[in-house]
Amino acid sequence: MLKPVSSSSNQGTFFQIKPSNPKYVYLFEEGDGKNKKLLGGKGAGLCEMTQIGLPVPPGFVITTQSCLEYFSNGFRFPEGLIDQVETAIAEVEKKMNLSFGDPNNPLLVSVRSGAAISMPGMMDTVLNLGINDATVEGLIKRSGDERFGWDSYRRFISLFGNIVLGIGDEEFDQALEKLKKDRNITQDLELCAQDMQELVSIFKHIIQGHTGKPLVQDPHQQLLMAIEAVFSSWNGKRAIDYRREFKITPKIAHGTAANVQTMVFGNMGENSATGVAFTRDPGTGENVFFGDYLQNAQGEDVVAGIRTPHPIAEMQQTMPQMYSELSKTREILEHNFHEVQDLEFTIQEGKLYILQTRTAKMNATAAMKTSIDMVNEGLLSKEDALLRLDPAQLTQLMYCQIDTKNAIAPIATGLGASPGAASGEAVFDADEAERQARAGKKVILVREQTKPEDIHGFFAAQGILTSVGGKTSHAAVVARGMGKPCVSGAGDIKINLFEKTASVGVNKISPGTFLTIDGTSGRVWLGEIAMVEPQISENLTTILEWADQFRRLEVRANADTPQDAEKALGFGAEGIGLCRTERMFNVAERIGLFQDMILADTTEKRTEALQQLLPMQVEDFVDIMRVMRGYPVTIRLLDPPLHEFLPSEEAIQREIQMLEKNQETFKEGLCISEALCMVNPALEAVLSENMHILKTLTTLQEVELKKRVDMLQKIRTLREVNPMLGHRGVRLGITFPEIYEMQIEAILLATSRLIKETVPVKVEIMIPQVCTAQELNRICNMIQSVANRVPDQDLKNYTVGTMVEVVRACMRAGKLAQLASFFSFGTNDLTQATFSFSREDAENKFLPFYNEHKILQDNPFEILDVKGVGRLMAIAVEWGRKTRPDLKIGICGEHGGEPSAVEFCHRIKLDYVSCSPYRIPIARLAAAQASIKEKRGQLKPLQ
Ligand code: PEP
Ligand code: MG
Repeated sequence: MLKPVSSSSNQGTFFQIKPSNPKYVYLFEEGDGKNKKLLGGKGAGLCEMTQIGLPVPPGFVITTQSCLEYFSNGFRFPEGLIDQVETAIAEVEKKMNLSFGDPNNPLLVSVRSGAAISMPGMMDTVLNLGINDATVEGLIKRSGDERFGWDSYRRFISLFGNIVLGIGDEEFDQALEKLKKDRNITQDLELCAQDMQELVSIFKHIIQGHTGKPLVQDPHQQLLMAIEAVFSSWNGKRAIDYRREFKITPKIAHGTAANVQTMVFGNMGENSATGVAFTRDPGTGENVFFGDYLQNAQGEDVVAGIRTPHPIAEMQQTMPQMYSELSKTREILEHNFHEVQDLEFTIQEGKLYILQTRTAKMNATAAMKTSIDMVNEGLLSKEDALLRLDPAQLTQLMYCQIDTKNAIAPIATGLGASPGAASGEAVFDADEAERQARAGKKVILVREQTKPEDIHGFFAAQGILTSVGGKTSHAAVVARGMGKPCVSGAGDIKINLFEKTASVGVNKISPGTFLTIDGTSGRVWLGEIAMVEPQISENLTTILEWADQFRRLEVRANADTPQDAEKALGFGAEGIGLCRTERMFNVAERIGLFQDMILADTTEKRTEALQQLLPMQVEDFVDIMRVMRGYPVTIRLLDPPLHEFLPSEEAIQREIQMLEKNQETFKEGLCISEALCMVNPALEAVLSENMHILKTLTTLQEVELKKRVDMLQKIRTLREVNPMLGHRGVRLGITFPEIYEMQIEAILLATSRLIKETVPVKVEIMIPQVCTAQELNRICNMIQSVANRVPDQDLKNYTVGTMVEVVRACMRAGKLAQLASFFSFGTNDLTQATFSFSREDAENKFLPFYNEHKILQDNPFEILDVKGVGRLMAIAVEWGRKTRPDLKIGICGEHGGEPSAVEFCHRIKLDYVSCSPYRIPIARLAAAQASIKEKRGQLKPLQ
């Protein structure tokens, strides 16, 4: 088919060939199980399972491409899609020997969403579709169960009403609750067939009331409306929130497929059941079959946590034959997918059906353990085992744990649904969680059970606590996916949703009550319980050792103290890539001296103050280099502008006012005393001591006052309109050379001392904010002349390099490399300079809006802007190495521990990345993944 397409080029309209018969619909027997992009994860899984012979209820997938075309066509199905759906339905009817809309033998289907990247619970599903006033009778006849028939119908109406017609589900929930109250019962199961039938007519009234029309009876029309609703849920609030949080770009996710599948029923009596299961424990990674099931129930009852289900192991007693079939399926799935699977199943009158399989979402602990186990079981190679891990997820392992030694008695214990401990103020709904988190509070979201629309509350909360639901409830699955601590099913906690309070025995929990939860043990405490620092586990050590076998990039740490250096070594740092010296002066015992140095009005006075700081700096460097035992230590000379070390103008003005007021008071005291002595000289003996004290105080205060006035003067002199682009870094070193001279001397004295003690040292002196070779040249000369006067200094012991954090430095990289033996990209400043976005302000001002409105995909201070900043880096690498082929190049901006930036650094052939100690494991794994992907040709071309 030839279709006119308007072109943005100035060549006018041209014609694009569109396949005459695009295929939008694939039967499960037809679809390529590997093609998740086209079929979505769920659809691909159903096709794969069908084709390897697992018992999947027949059905078909409507592709993600159809969804995209539906949007681009202005919310109309692409041409040909409806016909293909009808043909596929006819196929399913044939297979099932049932007929869509047939009052005697009705076919019912489910319509489920399923994007390429799993977004559990974020999009919509309609069940029992095909039911209407006529087919409900057929269903009753077929099942011989009147209650089941009406129950299925009322479930359909509420889902269809909510998902397709957009009526709030609370309307249906309230009607159900009211009926139960009228009947004086608490459980849905206690409702009889007539009650269900009554619910059907109440629900139909709700629909009529909202839409002004009766419930759609034609199953074909129901189906098309449900498909549209599923497609539209791709752009629902929770799906958008989820994609934003997990940085799933439209390009990666590519719309949702719609899966139409024959309904099977787990609520057809005691030999029916429904459940969800994981082929291994997704919380610990243990190789045990893990899951929940409920007899005589439908899937949503398990996932929504409406009834608390039973552990799957109990099925060995209650349904042994089914358990054994399910266990066999578990094995087949893992051997086929080479991945831990999360499956949904239904047993209908003693026959097992698998409704879904997908890669299980696991926390970092489980992901690591399963990687190691699956390598040992021969299911994965080491490379594959590393590639399946998400480096960013390793941050979860840095979570604190409850300090059990000091913990008081818990108030309740539920299920440990997602490990890690968290404290925060109780909030009872997701909107409130979001509000409080925005106000900077830590919150725990407390719910009876959670629903998909609570997703923004999950993002905002430190942890989740529910009183109902199992380890596979919505709360548990979502929290695990996010790596947030979660305790589910803490039944002792009685939640009053209307009052927004909860109680456990005599304890009351109100909004704002502090709670601590432990998602490993399931325990809940009132108040904030002490936590302990995380340890590197044996499994993480194994994974990182494997990563080290593949990575090329060296991983260093940004560390300014011996304690940080020690921590960094523990996490596997191979050096310090950035030791910021400014923090060393900003401590209580030194700041006074440093301020004296700044306030000094002559070079001599400045040198005098610096000489007092020198021995302290020597000790700083000795301590850090001693810890690092010969690993390279990059010490950066002072960078920030000097005013950062002085108090604010307002604070000083306040102090001056106070001192002046004191002086006035002292003066008045003296005057009064003198007047009294004049009147009565006998008083002199009594008052003389007081007068002496007042005079001394006045003199002392005068000194203080002068200091403050000088400081105020200095602060005003140092004030800059744009301090980040001001008198800082190497510019400071050039204009106040004494400062850098002292620091250089301290570095060289420290190395000499350690060499004498036979401690191996390797120090790299790094100069910040360089933009011209002349600047670098001056400091290199300075270093040389200081080295000449430091005894026992050996030139081999140190190297000199520059930070590359100014755009001009990138452009002059070839020239700078003549003098620098290493470059280190300061991507914090380089990002600021490239975008002209202030790194101090942008993130609080316009960046969130930019991200929300897709003007910028990411926050460039978090995710390296490969297209702009990255390009500058690539140029600097190329030109620098042209001058000096062995130029050592690293990165020490915050991006150094961010996985996508690590991959980019690998690609442009940096030698190392440097990041905060806690991100070292992430960087080691990300560096290994970059190497493996490169070897396999899996790196996408750089744009
Ligand atoms: C940088 O600019 O990336 C950097 C590491 O330096 P700082 O953050 O200290 O300015
Ligand atoms: Mg910087």
